[in-house]
Amino acid sequence: MTADRAIRSIIILGGGTAGWMAAAALRTALGRTCDIQLVESAEIGIVGVGEATIPAIRQFNAMIGLKEAAFMRNTKASLKLGIEFVDWGDKGRRYLHPFGVFGLDAELGDFHQLYLKLRKQGLTEDLETYSLCAQAARRGRVGTAAADPASPLSRLFSAYHFDAVLYGRHLRRFCEQMGVLRIEGQVVDVVRAPEGGLVESLTLKDGRSLAADLFIDCSGFRGLLIEETMQAGYETWDHWLPVDRAVAVPCEKVGPMTPYTTSTAREAGWQWRIPLQHRTGNGYVFSTRFTDEDTATATLMANLDGAALAEPRLLRFVTGRRRAAWKGNVVALGLASGFIEPLESTSIHMVHSGLVKLLQHFPDRDFSPVNIATYNGRVREEAERIRDFIILHYHLTQRRDTPFWDYVATMPIPDSLAERVEIFRDRGMLLTRPDELFSPSSWLAVMMGQGIEPRHYNPLVDRQASAQVEAGFKAMQARISSLVDPLPEHEAFLADNRMLDLEEA
Ligand SMILES: Cc1cc2nc3c(=O)[nH]c(=O)nc-3n(C[C@H](O)[C@H](O)[C@H](O)COP(=O)(O)OP(=O)(O)OC[C@H]3O[C@@H](n4cnc5c(N)ncnc54)[C@H](O)[C@@H]3O)c2cc1C
Repeated sequence: MTADRAIRSIIILGGGTAGWMAAAALRTALGRTCDIQLVESAEIGIVGVGEATIPAIRQFNAMIGLKEAAFMRNTKASLKLGIEFVDWGDKGRRYLHPFGVFGLDAELGDFHQLYLKLRKQGLTEDLETYSLCAQAARRGRVGTAAADPASPLSRLFSAYHFDAVLYGRHLRRFCEQMGVLRIEGQVVDVVRAPEGGLVESLTLKDGRSLAADLFIDCSGFRGLLIEETMQAGYETWDHWLPVDRAVAVPCEKVGPMTPYTTSTAREAGWQWRIPLQHRTGNGYVFSTRFTDEDTATATLMANLDGAALAEPRLLRFVTGRRRAAWKGNVVALGLASGFIEPLESTSIHMVHSGLVKLLQHFPDRDFSPVNIATYNGRVREEAERIRDFIILHYHLTQRRDTPFWDYVATMPIPDSLAERVEIFRDRGMLLTRPDELFSPSSWLAVMMGQGIEPRHYNPLVDRQASAQVEAGFKAMQARISSLVDPLPEHEAFLADNRMLDLEEA
């Protein structure tokens, strides 16, 4: 590449979470070498949901230099140690998918194979007994992960729940201080080069024209640049993930904030509960093939902790992904690039990982087709692996009590997922794939939580004396308790670390 082919200007279309995350990351990485502008329309607004994250958000915040305490105060955030699934495997059953790993003592051997062996010998303890994050979550305790990897507390992974609108505002202030120019206006037309079809400029309703070398499409579900202009195409996954609506409503906070998200299975989907400092966020994600909007709204409103604080809001979506997240000089991030569904809080993370990949594949004005194809392949692979993990939750249910649960339990699933489920069912083996977001511990949590009891375990673990393994597991349980005992309660921790917005406390 010669310097005169370098990207000198970027326009980000959209000021939702994706747009402001892109602005922050690109400004931090590119410094002042590139002119960065963000255009958004207050009239159109943002989707305004997306309040639960996964621990990798800490890496994003570190990458852009966001200070944790101020970020938490400004977004009225709480800490999240995992997700509790209620009535998913079967009615009346619940389990946690905690962050971090199961087991504590690597010297004992392969935790999950030993656990499977002990279960065959009559062990009744749930998996979560052996997870630091799960035990802390159950007791409403949180803490800072130890920096020393030798300390077991280094595995006290946490993420955040935050107010999506306040997060957008926080990032906006941060970006504007770093010199990102925000333009208020509605894009009504897109001008493309007659040859090659690259986007040249965006035309606003008031007639202004905004030109750039590279365009980041963060315009939400419609994908104004990637779809309406570049016609990248959309691959739908609604045969595997049939949910297509969400109705969302905040309610009054009742009682202390749980340091985890709750996902409760409902007649035709599931309901989220996300505790924040000032309110609790709720939503019912459902399929209109199996229920209607009025029934879903009534179900949500009948299942709130406290009084509703607003009118319920309906959101429509189609599960799937954009066939090409990058086409020509347009890169789509966030909802413009697709939407799997919010069950495991992965969308905001995918914005983050899309940005990391974009920086690794950063183009010049020649827009190398090989570079773009490789980026698209990596984005597709990541999305498909996350998709499989989400389908897993539905497909492994033992519920058949409603047409929705019967459908997801009996539908054909992708081969890539079927293979993983079968080898686990047979041998208790956890297949891993390179660069995968969800770790073997996550797959274990959900496969066992949903009710799979593998037929066999790896016979090599029989070389360890059962009595020694049993004693090791008892000691591990006691050690985890002793690590959780001194941890502070959630709100006390936030207050002590100046993370609590005192006006709301
Ligand atoms: C029901 C639901 C629950 C979710 N829960 C989670 C969760 O728990 N965790 C998680 O990680 N993610 C979650 N998500 C996803 C998350 O909300 C999104 O990934 C995130 O908010 C990013 O959205 P966005 O910025 O891509 O789009 P939007 O918020 O829709 O922003 C689009 C932007 O584009 C602008 N725009 C559009 N058209 C124009 C135009 N013509 N001119 C100018 N500007 C324009 C709009 O003004 C707006 O600023 C959830 C999504 C849904 C639907």
